[in-house]
Amino acid sequence: MSGYRTAAIVTVGTELVRGLAVDTNTAEIAHVVSGAGIDVGETVSVPDDLAVLTGALRRCTASYDLVVVTGGLGPTHDDVTREAAAEALGLTVARDAALKETLRASAARHTDERAAAQVFNQADVIAGATVLPAVCGTAPGQVVPTLRGSLVLLPGPPREMRPILHRLAASWRSVGVEPRVLRCTGLSESDLQMAAQDVLGDRTDIELTVLAKPGDVRVVLFDRGAGAAALDETAAAVAAIVGEPCYSVDGSSLAEVVLSRAHAAGLTLATAESCTGGLVGAALTDVPGSSSAYLGGVVSYSDEAKVTLLGVDPGLISACGAVSDAVAMAMAAGARDALGADYAVSVTGVAGPGGGSPDKPVGTVWFAVAGPDGVRAQIRRFSGDRDSVRERSTTTALDLLRRALPDD
Ligand code: AMP
Ligand code: MG
Repeated sequence: MSGYRTAAIVTVGTELVRGLAVDTNTAEIAHVVSGAGIDVGETVSVPDDLAVLTGALRRCTASYDLVVVTGGLGPTHDDVTREAAAEALGLTVARDAALKETLRASAARHTDERAAAQVFNQADVIAGATVLPAVCGTAPGQVVPTLRGSLVLLPGPPREMRPILHRLAASWRSVGVEPRVLRCTGLSESDLQMAAQDVLGDRTDIELTVLAKPGDVRVVLFDRGAGAAALDETAAAVAAIVGEPCYSVDGSSLAEVVLSRAHAAGLTLATAESCTGGLVGAALTDVPGSSSAYLGGVVSYSDEAKVTLLGVDPGLISACGAVSDAVAMAMAAGARDALGADYAVSVTGVAGPGGGSPDKPVGTVWFAVAGPDGVRAQIRRFSGDRDSVRERSTTTALDLLRRALPDD
């Protein structure tokens, strides 16, 4: 149970503010906190410095209902989060006997007595705090009541932080309304924004954010007093205006949608990839349970591989080039046959930086989908570097497969 409306996230570590390590915790925590309908107003990173951290915690606990802190909970001298939190809230810290017992095995692993002794620093609990037991590792978390809500202390290593966070977040679920996420591909950020704004009109009880990555645009609708039903209605109205380019209204990825459509219709899938080198297959197999529809794929990078593994006619390659509608179609048909799949998608293109020509510049990519009703090819011309061309090609291949499959 919680009545949190607003939150701040504080990450602690000298390595984070000096650029020696990347702060991934902020994004993970912000995702979980905003997913629970709590508005993240601020994220802060501070070094392992008692005075700076105390100041940040004093300010954040005074300004936000929920403050989530990660890092600085380990046993070493630079782990000052417990001390700073107690200082900021004017509370004392005491060693918890039961917690100390749980740390004995960990202390026994040290040969240096001083190292063994400081393991027990992790049993120091702030007065009035609830201990969040460690799921992985030794450092437990703590939830300390504040005047506005709670201060939550979590360990820094992501694999230790994550299970404690998720267990704790289960108690936030009943509170605010989760934001609705519409995912689209094949239309611009601005077009999507306009469609959403047309639906929203001048209402202020739903906040709109548009996020864009190459080939993947999202609208996020945050509740600002409208309630769950209004959020659902708005999401459905935006999806209806956007039409086919909107592939999910529940945050599902493109690969998840492709697999669920195929699975629902009892259809199987295969891939034939050249310039994406297996990225399409990787995206599909990233989804647990993908084997229910995805049979496999062929990474046919060289001309020989296209011929020997997919049965592409070498004459087609010499006449049209490996990056052509004819070869893309032969690759898709070849993969469909070789794997015995209902549908196969192929990708063949010039990812760059070399290999471009005047009629096929870098970024030229041919795709084809082979299915029970025949084979169809499409061309795209992407701008950007190699990574970006490969990423957009992957999204496009998945999208063409989605559009070819029956809608469930
Ligand atoms: P600490 O609990 O501060 O001793 O953190 C231990 C380790 O966790 C650090 O050395 C980092 O590798 C990792 N870590 C700490 N904070 C973060 C963060 N915000 N994001 C990602 N990794 C982190
Ligand atoms: Mg640290």
